[in-house]
Amino acid sequence: MKILVATGQTQGKRTNDYNWCVEGELVFIEPACASDERDADGECGCGRAFSGLSSHRATTTARVAELAGFTEAGYVEALRASLADQGYPAWLAPEMAESLLDLVSLWPPGTVVERRLDEIRPRVVFARSRPPD
Ligand SMILES: [Zn+2]
Repeated sequence: MKILVATGQTQGKRTNDYNWCVEGELVFIEPACASDERDADGECGCGRAFSGLSSHRATTTARVAELAGFTEAGYVEALRASLADQGYPAWLAPEMAESLLDLVSLWPPGTVVERRLDEIRPRVVFARSRPPD
C-alpha cells in the first residue's frame, strides 16, 4: 500500500524548506493557520507543511512510500491515535486516510511531493526501476 511519509529528500530546493520530522514517519496534512492560509511561504510555515504522526513535528517534503503489509485499517488506526494524542478530533481519521490514499494513488513510490496550501504536487518523480531507499 502506498502511504505518504516524511523525507529529507530535496530539502533545500526551496530556501524556506524545513524538516523536523523523523525520516520515514507517516505524515498527514493539517489546515493552515490564519497567518498562513493565503501564503504557502508565510512566516508560520504551516501552509507548506506535512505533519509527522509520531514526532508531532513538521516537514516541507514528503515521499510516496510503498509499505508492504500495511492496511487501510492500520492506517486509520495510526491516524486516529496521532490525532487523539495531539488533541484533534480522532473521528476525522477515516476520512483523512481516504483522502491521503487518494492523493498518493496519483504518483509512483519514490515521488517526493511538496505542499502549496491546498495543492500537493511532485517535486521529483523517480523512475519505477529505482531501487527503494
Ligand atoms: Zn501556521
